[in-house]
Amino acid sequence: MKEDWKDQARCKGMPSDLFFGVADEPSQEMLDLCHSCPSFIACYDHAMKHEEYGYWAGTTAKKRRKLRREQGRPMEPLVRSRMPVKGCGTNAGYARHLHRKEPACAECVREHRAYNAEKAARKRANRKARIGL
Ligand code: SF4
Ligand SMILES: [Zn+2]
Repeated sequence: MKEDWKDQARCKGMPSDLFFGVADEPSQEMLDLCHSCPSFIACYDHAMKHEEYGYWAGTTAKKRRKLRREQGRPMEPLVRSRMPVKGCGTNAGYARHLHRKEPACAECVREHRAYNAEKAARKRANRKARIGL
């Protein structure tokens, strides 16, 4: 079944990393975004059922865990009948996982961290070279 609510989503086309790594207290902007979204109810229902990670419909992962506990509402596994992520196990694969709004696999996370560490080291080296150290 096609999930039409995703087409109406206010967050459609926004970078997925905005929705992952959200602190336990989302910003007012994030809350305003969701509270003005026409897909809010469908998104909330979907997230309560299926999404372990990330910020969805005004809720963080932690908040949804609490709500599920309080409501005695277990998660329902989602059968993802999708193709595997292209380039899984690379930094590009990491970005594709986020784009799909799914948690990145351990290998992609490792590659992403390595990529960031390398980038930071390059920046440090450039800075040193600039000031002649
Ligand atoms: S409620 Fe928020 S997270 Fe859900 S579809 Fe709308 S804008 Fe996106
Ligand atoms: Zn992966």
